[in-house]
Amino acid sequence: MSENVHNVDPGEINKFEKLAARWWDPHSEFKTLHDINPLRLDYIDSRAGPGGLHGKQVLDVGCGGGLLAEAMAARGAAVTGIDMGKAPLNVARLHQYESGLDIDYRQVTAEQLAQEQPGSFDVITCLEMLEHVPDPGEVIAACATLIKDDGRIILSTINRNPKAWLFAVIGAEYLLNMLPRGTHDYRKFIRPSEMEAWARHSGLQLTDLTGMSYNPLTREYRLGTDVSINYLACFRKA
Ligand code: SAH
Repeated sequence: MSENVHNVDPGEINKFEKLAARWWDPHSEFKTLHDINPLRLDYIDSRAGPGGLHGKQVLDVGCGGGLLAEAMAARGAAVTGIDMGKAPLNVARLHQYESGLDIDYRQVTAEQLAQEQPGSFDVITCLEMLEHVPDPGEVIAACATLIKDDGRIILSTINRNPKAWLFAVIGAEYLLNMLPRGTHDYRKFIRPSEMEAWARHSGLQLTDLTGMSYNPLTREYRLGTDVSINYLACFRKA
């Protein structure tokens, strides 16, 4: 990594580098991301501002192998996907040829891009990434710099409380084997109040908070008011 790269945990990046080849296999370690993709895509589309995602300049921070970036591009958005993992980006670059989409993938941090092109995006998404970063508040600050004045920022992560520990770590990694063990570090989970405070310090205001819950019996995810484990949050400039 070059010298001006900071706020990146190499151990975290390495976890995703090792699994990257299976990113688009819906039965792999990435099954959960495949399963939640349609739900979160609709959520983003409905909160992307007038006209939805179509025709918008969108930045996907921590895009990984491109599941969400491709889905947003298929809805007509002009998407830039950034990640610090080389292998996930290579997978993403290859897969878009298969899909016939045109996404600009770059290995750069949100903080670096914020210096290059402030005020450039209508919509910024950063999903399931903040809990893998040393200082999530700094990523949110970079998003606040990158967004246009009337743009929307959509973040998702995992709440921090005993129930979230039980379901997102013990349940998902140890009992149901939905995720590789060690995927998530409980201490890095983020309470909605903490996310909101970081965003507020960066001049953003919360406009929506929605929970995403998993029913292990039906094996279905749904959006709702229960933010005790996974949640999505939407912000605008205050
Ligand atoms: N957002 C995608 C992928 C989530 S997995 C989705 O929800 O489908 C988390 C991703 O964040 C991995 O691809 C990892 O490489 C990336 N990541 C972790 N820390 C990062 C950082 N500091 N900057 C950019 N990407 C990062």
